[in-house]
Amino acid sequence: MLVLGIVFFLLIIAGLVLNTIFLVREIRRNEQHDAFINAVTHELKTPIASIRLYLETLKSREVEPAKRREFYDVMLADSDRLLATVEQVLRAGQVGVKRRAITDENIDLGGLVRACVELAKLRYGLDVDSFRFAEPEGADIPTVRGNIEELTVAVSNLLDNAVKYSGECVDVSVEVASIDTRRAIVRVRDRGMGIPAGQAKRIFKRFYRVPSAVRQRIKGTGLGLYIVRAIVERHGGRVLAESEGEGRGSTFTIQLPKVAAS
Ligand code: ADP
Repeated sequence: MLVLGIVFFLLIIAGLVLNTIFLVREIRRNEQHDAFINAVTHELKTPIASIRLYLETLKSREVEPAKRREFYDVMLADSDRLLATVEQVLRAGQVGVKRRAITDENIDLGGLVRACVELAKLRYGLDVDSFRFAEPEGADIPTVRGNIEELTVAVSNLLDNAVKYSGECVDVSVEVASIDTRRAIVRVRDRGMGIPAGQAKRIFKRFYRVPSAVRQRIKGTGLGLYIVRAIVERHGGRVLAESEGEGRGSTFTIQLPKVAAS
């Protein structure tokens, strides 16, 4: 009777613990969803409100040509921001679908990453010193098999984050290399705010953003790294985040299988 009572008691305790774990998880998930909806709403509303304001100004009064050109530039930048948010949300929906018709081809990984770096430099107006790219050495140019568009999105997301989470002083180095006969890597290293201990795996979860007042001010949806991981895994690779701690920079490494030399 006593043994039965103890077993029963333990079962109730185990049930309670499990219930609490699931409850906490569900609450966290709901919080992340709310934060995501708020972030997306903000990211959609702000540029639209800004474009509207400029259009109203242009309609209601005469604006001198130089000022008008400036208005057009701001409106273009706002529409780019709008498009980037919409594309990210759509991409997150796409990469979540398991079976997709995707065309794969052999890709020169060095060339792909170089193009992403050039684009990022242009987009953020960065100079050569703040963004360094180490070309793969001589005969060791890695070729991978995959979809150019998807891999470009994955690498660009890492570069965008490196700039975004670096604050004022951007110092990013990008490297492409073969680590052995079968694997190639793309490594993006920054000297920004780093990743707090215990968060290096979580940041790849959908909607997850590191909770901190400073980071909340940086715009984002928590989808970027989720998209990176989904794309890399579809290509048979994996992605890893490392950091020596907050304020000490981060290193993201994408590892991909190489195409065997024929
Ligand atoms: P978002 O940037 O939209 O919040 P991501 O999925 O791209 O979403 O990143 C998830 C979280 O990981 C971010 O909120 C940020 O705190 C952290 N993170 C990503 N990249 C870096 C980086 N290079 N340095 C520091 N923290 C980063």
